[in-house]
Amino acid sequence: KPRVFSGIQPSGGLTLGNYLGAIKRFVEMQDQGIETIYCMVDMHAITVWQDPDALKRQTRELAAGYLAAGLDPKKSILFNQSQVSAHAELGWVFNCVARMGWMNRMTQWKDKTSGKDAEKASLGLFAYPSLMAADILLYHATHVPVGEDQKQHVELTRDIATKFNHDYKVDFFPITEPVIEGAATRVMSLRDGTKKMSKSDPSDASRINLTDDADTISKKIRKAKTDAEPLPDSFDALADRPEAKNLVNIYAALAGMTKDAVLAEYAGQGFGAFKPKLADLAVESLSPISTEMARLMQAPDEIDAILGQGADRADAIARPIMERTYDIVGMVRSR
Ligand code: ATP
Ligand code: MG
Repeated sequence: KPRVFSGIQPSGGLTLGNYLGAIKRFVEMQDQGIETIYCMVDMHAITVWQDPDALKRQTRELAAGYLAAGLDPKKSILFNQSQVSAHAELGWVFNCVARMGWMNRMTQWKDKTSGKDAEKASLGLFAYPSLMAADILLYHATHVPVGEDQKQHVELTRDIATKFNHDYKVDFFPITEPVIEGAATRVMSLRDGTKKMSKSDPSDASRINLTDDADTISKKIRKAKTDAEPLPDSFDALADRPEAKNLVNIYAALAGMTKDAVLAEYAGQGFGAFKPKLADLAVESLSPISTEMARLMQAPDEIDAILGQGADRADAIARPIMERTYDIVGMVRSR
């Protein structure tokens, strides 16, 4: 029976990339009647420094974003990771299954330490994919909807499951499938078309936040890096224009159109004409979500109650799987 798990870090505000690459698909899967478990991975967030008060606010804001986008706490399990301690417990076991060499090859680790002194990165940032494997396998999840940037981590999750099953001669953890089918699986930075849009990018102008107001969205799109060429009539012709490609991709995802259909409409026009249309479309698509998020943020106690109930339901699935894991590994459990 399929079971879906996915997580988002409360490491900042939600971006258009998170929405188009992940959350929109989360809602579709929930509404297909599949068992869906969605997590705010606060323990992943602290792999880089988080101000404690900001982390609490961001966790509630992320929950508000999930709810505003259409996740229903009756249909899906919504919770924050640290309230289910088995994530940390299985993460430790997997730290002992995964190999240093596997972690060294992770492109997220390389991206997040590039230009910095990797010796000064936290040990948790290095072990991030191992905790992510625990998040997924703790529920024996069969499918993980993610953006393209997380594909390698899901593959590593499969490697960890395979090695665990092999080392302990069991057929216990499933081999999980990544589901990379978002409306846009790789939204790029508005400042640099070769870098993905991220909520933790130091430049706020690089991303559209789900909480940005209409003026801010318009301004960011107007100022987005582009080139001076007009738009061509096919997406293939944009191959070496990463910024132009990104804006067309965003337009298509928001409008629910193919990229070629967007270009059929705008071929021959420059960005002076295209950007205001894209800004209108983005405002129109995101404002119902941001309005609802703002409303939900007025009631943090209700959000906390949803996360608490979700954590109880998550724990009820996770605990027996964790106990079975301890038994397989050879831990004495006598209380
Ligand atoms: P951080 O910068 O802190 O890593 P993030 O924006 O990358 O934050 P994550 O919490 O790491 O967000 O990822 C949450 C989900 O959003 C994942 O499924 C990820 O693949 C997806 N995602 C993140 N950025 C993008 C993007 N630019 N385009 C499409 N999907 C994305
Ligand atoms: Mg990320």
